[in-house]
Amino acid sequence: MTTTSALSGARWLLLDEYTSEVDVTLGVCHDLDGLFVDPEPLPPPETFTLLGCDPAGPLLEALRHMGTERAWLPSIALTPVHRPQQRPTGCLPYEHGCTCEEELIDVTVVSRRPSAAQDGLVNLDLRGYVRLLPEWGMPEEKPDGTGFRLAGLNNEKLGTCLDVAGVFRERPAAPVRPVTLIGFRPEAPLLGAIEGRKITASLIAVQRDGRIAGGAGVLSAAVISARPSRSGAGLLDIALDGGMEEPLPSGVREIFQMWYDGGPAEPNLWARYDRLLRHEWSGLAASHRPQGLPDKPAATTYRLDGRFVTDIDAFYCAIGEAINGPGGYFGWNLDALHDCLSGGWGAAGPFRLIWHHSDVARRHLVPGYDRPSHDLRYWRPNVELDDLLEIFSEHDIEVEFR
Ligand SMILES: [Zn+2]
Repeated sequence: MTTTSALSGARWLLLDEYTSEVDVTLGVCHDLDGLFVDPEPLPPPETFTLLGCDPAGPLLEALRHMGTERAWLPSIALTPVHRPQQRPTGCLPYEHGCTCEEELIDVTVVSRRPSAAQDGLVNLDLRGYVRLLPEWGMPEEKPDGTGFRLAGLNNEKLGTCLDVAGVFRERPAAPVRPVTLIGFRPEAPLLGAIEGRKITASLIAVQRDGRIAGGAGVLSAAVISARPSRSGAGLLDIALDGGMEEPLPSGVREIFQMWYDGGPAEPNLWARYDRLLRHEWSGLAASHRPQGLPDKPAATTYRLDGRFVTDIDAFYCAIGEAINGPGGYFGWNLDALHDCLSGGWGAAGPFRLIWHHSDVARRHLVPGYDRPSHDLRYWRPNVELDDLLEIFSEHDIEVEFR
């Protein structure tokens, strides 16, 4: 990334990394109206029915505990059994299934009755959610086949069923949150009449000193109107018909402001934020990471301040600061932590980690089911302290609890 004096005063850069082979700057702006929004309320759980089901494994176990909290499963993957030689258009096979598969999550078994289809089979009513992955397309049409294979986490077998109801149906699309670019200074591609022009651009945060420092997501929309801005001579306010592919929670504005002003100068400033904002904090820490610095040498001792590690995102904030100082980054999920421990992210391994106030993590990083936000994509069983210790151990990191 570069420093450009022309960026001074502007907070955001729109960079088109998508429509041609070279990245093209579309312009800079002071602000975006509609960038930060509060999430939609979580919809109520849905009801599904597995028809003609032959349950196995943990699903059978859940049936035995109907009416209690043990009649629950974190995940049921529904993989269609296609007819031989009749793979539907667009279906791509992979190791344990195909792209026609859908996943039910946070599932409670509500009731059971005999199936009319065949003796011994049952119809099961379930309550839970479908893990919608908009990037994979929405599950509107039931894939063709002779039934479904049911699988749990780690492809654990849960049996089969002949049909399902309630899963493959139209769902309301996420509401469009239109964005207005405030005080926009267009670059060459957007000079002249721009009404109707389609924009796809990464939104890049700019610091007060003009340094380019990290992304806030992708903006994809068409220009509705452009009018002179009150922000300054020659600048425009540009209304768009759409917005960010993933809007940011409104509390993140304050964290962006902190980075705009040069970044956190002391540790634990993230501790005042909730779970969701701590996650965004780590994302910003990642994108503001100084480039090209060598790792501190192997066998260094790092000290993790564990006082505020009340959730897994707090752990990522804390380890980032333990290794790389205030606002530091050292992974924001298990895969990223694994990458960071492999070197090149501030610390060469193996190293020693002294974890102060580890009793806090012992109390909070425990078994359970994690619903960190309204975004169902991230719901899964908790990351536990033991999971972290396993990764540290794989990388020969000596962890000393205090
Ligand atoms: Zn398929």
